[in-house]
Amino acid sequence: MNFSDNSDQAADYLRQAVPTMVKYKIVPNPLNYTLWYSYYAQAFPTLNKELDQTIERYGTCPSDVGEALFIQHIIPLNKGSEKQLQSFHKAFSHIVDNLSVSLDNTAKETTGYSQALMDNLTMLGAHDLDTAIKPVLERLNENASAICLANEEFQGQLVSAQTEISMLKAELEQTKKEANTDSLTGLSNRRVLESIYHQFVEEHDDSDELALIIMDIDKFKLFNDTHGHLLGDQILKFVGQLLRKECKEPLVPVRFGGEEFALFCPRYSLEKAHQIAENIRVKLSLIRFNNKRTGDKIPPITASFGVTIKKHGDILNNVIERADQALYAAKSAGRNQVMLAN
Ligand code: GH3
Ligand code: MG
Ligand code: MG
Repeated sequence: MNFSDNSDQAADYLRQAVPTMVKYKIVPNPLNYTLWYSYYAQAFPTLNKELDQTIERYGTCPSDVGEALFIQHIIPLNKGSEKQLQSFHKAFSHIVDNLSVSLDNTAKETTGYSQALMDNLTMLGAHDLDTAIKPVLERLNENASAICLANEEFQGQLVSAQTEISMLKAELEQTKKEANTDSLTGLSNRRVLESIYHQFVEEHDDSDELALIIMDIDKFKLFNDTHGHLLGDQILKFVGQLLRKECKEPLVPVRFGGEEFALFCPRYSLEKAHQIAENIRVKLSLIRFNNKRTGDKIPPITASFGVTIKKHGDILNNVIERADQALYAAKSAGRNQVMLAN
């Protein structure tokens, strides 16, 4: 993947992509623009080869061929790793941010040039010139007007392409958000835990503290069996709200899966994370739930917790495994308690 983060570079690809699209009468929509941007960024060598062959064969890039190339070369990025998606997203946002400035400059330059040409031609035309030159001048004059007109039209097309790109950008942002969010509780999901862990490791020294709390609701299967899955969902939602309320920055609560949650605690010692877990444990156990439908009281909901800290050279799975062992110990010791693993 070879998209550049450098704005001059991105603008340079833009300056090359746009004239090519004009030359081959390719509609400047976001899809085609991405293809030709990728072409000049040389992001996918096979795409370049296929675009060259398409132009050679058709003298343009027909829309169905463009779509097929997009699906073949660009879309697979979305199926790739999170990192690739992020870098594509970053590059895409970058293009949009640069598009407006570059467009403006290109338009000004072309309009200025065309205007100067027309002024000169008008001046020349005012003199008594040899009749042989006159038709040539008139043709040049017509060409200059045509350039101005074409430029205006193209400018309009590019502006609407820019609107489309901005909409796509917003959609992409939304999709990314949805992919990282658990729909029931609104908390971040496990993917986020992975990416923030890697980010933490990249940005911090190995000696910087990081704690992880894993929380698992006690006897939740029994709860579902007794009160129904729908009420179970309501409890999970409530736990999500409680965690959001109790986890102030820099803590990040995550729905880890099922009735398990994880709290990512950057710059937290084992003891500090223990206090957080203990506080949440007590708060949850003191809440009195009612079944709104039947009015029945529901016995307290409790959870067990496993807490650990990252050790030298740990990958995320090592940390999770240790927190899980502590959680298992908390379950074995009778549930509704916090256990630590060093
Ligand atoms: P333990 O105290 O040992 O954790 O017992 P448990 O019953 O909580 O553990 P177990 O792993 O046996 O069962 C987990 C239950 O969590 C089973 C499953 O139905 C329930 N569960 C998982 N995800 C959801 C969900 O999204 N909604 C509801 N309502 N229940 C869920
Ligand atoms: Mg569980
Ligand atoms: Mg459980």
